[in-house]
Amino acid sequence: MSLVKDAILSQKIEFSCIVIGIAALAASFLAEWAWPIVFVPIAICGAPIVWGAIVGVVKEHDITADVLVSVAIVASVLIGEYDAAAEIAIIMQIGEFFEEATVDHANASIMKLVNMRPTTARVVRDGAEAVVPIEEVRLGDIVRIVPGEMVPVDGTVTSGSTSVNNSILTGESVPRDVTVGDRVSSGTVNMYGSVDVEVDRVGDDTTLARMARIIENADAGKSRIVRTADRWAVYIVAIAFTVAVLSYLVFQDVYRSVTVLVVFCPCALILATPTAIMAAAGNMSKRGILVKDGGAVERMASVDTLLMDKTGTLTTGEVACHGFTSTDPGTDAEAIERLVSAVESRSEHPLGRAIAAAHTGDVAETSDFNYLPGLGVSGTVEGRAVVAGNERLMRGLCPGNLDLTVGAAAEARDDGYTVVFAGIDGRAVGFAVLSDTLKNGSAEAVRDLRSLGLRTVMLTGDSRQVARRTADALGMDEVVWECLPEDKLRKVKDLEGSGRTCMVGDGINDAPSLRRADVGIAMGGMGNEMATENADIVFVDDDISKVGGVVRLSRRTLLTIKAGIAFSIALNSAAMVLAVLGLMGPVAGALVHNVGSVIVIVMAALLLRHDCWGRSGAGTAAPGATTSPA
Ligand code: ADP
Ligand code: MG
Repeated sequence: MSLVKDAILSQKIEFSCIVIGIAALAASFLAEWAWPIVFVPIAICGAPIVWGAIVGVVKEHDITADVLVSVAIVASVLIGEYDAAAEIAIIMQIGEFFEEATVDHANASIMKLVNMRPTTARVVRDGAEAVVPIEEVRLGDIVRIVPGEMVPVDGTVTSGSTSVNNSILTGESVPRDVTVGDRVSSGTVNMYGSVDVEVDRVGDDTTLARMARIIENADAGKSRIVRTADRWAVYIVAIAFTVAVLSYLVFQDVYRSVTVLVVFCPCALILATPTAIMAAAGNMSKRGILVKDGGAVERMASVDTLLMDKTGTLTTGEVACHGFTSTDPGTDAEAIERLVSAVESRSEHPLGRAIAAAHTGDVAETSDFNYLPGLGVSGTVEGRAVVAGNERLMRGLCPGNLDLTVGAAAEARDDGYTVVFAGIDGRAVGFAVLSDTLKNGSAEAVRDLRSLGLRTVMLTGDSRQVARRTADALGMDEVVWECLPEDKLRKVKDLEGSGRTCMVGDGINDAPSLRRADVGIAMGGMGNEMATENADIVFVDDDISKVGGVVRLSRRTLLTIKAGIAFSIALNSAAMVLAVLGLMGPVAGALVHNVGSVIVIVMAALLLRHDCWGRSGAGTAAPGATTSPA
């Protein structure tokens, strides 16, 4: 976490400079002889800005808003208006501080959890409890969790029942009851009873470890928010200098010109964007939403098409496998199941996990394992080439006996089941029938998004029948089936000319489109690391109903930014007129700045508590809302 630490250290220094600067400025007013203390804030807050502006202009020929600020500070000092120079320097430093703080501080509540993660676990072996370092917990171990403890691993409850609280992570205040057979994930807090949990994810694989990694990567790949003021800096600088020079030519009064430079410093303008985005990201962080790229909040406000993956995004990904059917006289269903589940035991895909989990008995050794995103898997088991996947994959690898096999699976597919075909040594031999359940609240989430004026499109690698059925149950505007990762990517590209897109997904197959879309949202809890890495926003708890809240909050944020900018431009213009007319001096000008900046910060801070989440998290499944008729 060294990157995070570095960032926090540099912010601590900046923060100290601001505090010392303000204290020194106040002290300089205390007594007549104390006035030279005013040079302290000018030096520690002002000098870095002036130096940065000089380096920018000389090295990169880059005119930023800091150029105007620097000229204003230097000019104020030259005419002896030290208080004004100090005030500008301090305010600008505060702006800088907020800008850098945007992402890491907003993620503070999730970081807190990651830092709190347990370092030991109580393992039950041969009936005896032993407290061992977390690194020594193995897959299949039984871990006992007593009330009040944070769950240290991911696993399934094998005895006892209790409620777990996930509020630190997701802001969801209602504890969830768990009993034998239910899954618990690391980072939740055990409330009432003692439970034993069979560990199925350890080390880097646990939910908590994933979150830690996402936060680290978010910091490393953080893109600085483009300061709106910098986009307009050239114009602002030009206007300020022109007015200052004209005013000097007309009135021959250097004070008026310096005041013009001072009041036209775009302090509030610079603060508007980063403070609003930081507050919005902080609001989301309390709901278990990690903002990796602050700019995504701004972009999200103008998204008009939402592309959503099916498996693992709209559905729970907790797939049920209903068994295998053989279509090859030479191979019985048990043999197919044994070979296929051996290969699938290596798969991370929800379908693969379901097939592997349904298999009882020994798991055979698999070599040459290969995952073909959007298609299926292959591998060598007991010297035989085994393939499991969709029709497209089978056409390529196991064309023999395929038409008969596809025909035999037609009924299950028409009924809305997901079918995984099995092939051995280049020949189709049978299929498995699976069903997936829609997430609680998926239908409400889609309805909510449509009511926000967004077009909803489902992109899935599954068959036409399942895709249609699911899309209809959810009331989506459009559905595209049998998508390979590149098909999902193409859809994103196709939409680029006509509007803004947001992709929501969970798998490797979604990674390219998550990266390409204007905003990529990944399901982090269950999702694949490739997906979270390529996304701008990550949902810790995979709650699809929060997408609507993100849209609402983003729109609100953009509105706040625009209002802040409009307000500060109006204020600066009015102050400039007063300065030219000689009705306002440099000190009063700097004070007007203070007021403008404070108002912009207060407007942004309101976003932190803005409630736009509706009944999110409390959604109930619509009756019959499953992808299978069962
Ligand atoms: P989605 O886009 O709905 O999330 P994927 O792109 O992950 O679905 O998968 C698309 C299709 O590829 C699945 O419907 C399935 O037919 C096949 N597939 C993917 N992974 C596997 C696997 N591990 N075993 C069998 N089939 C798979
Ligand atoms: Mg998926």
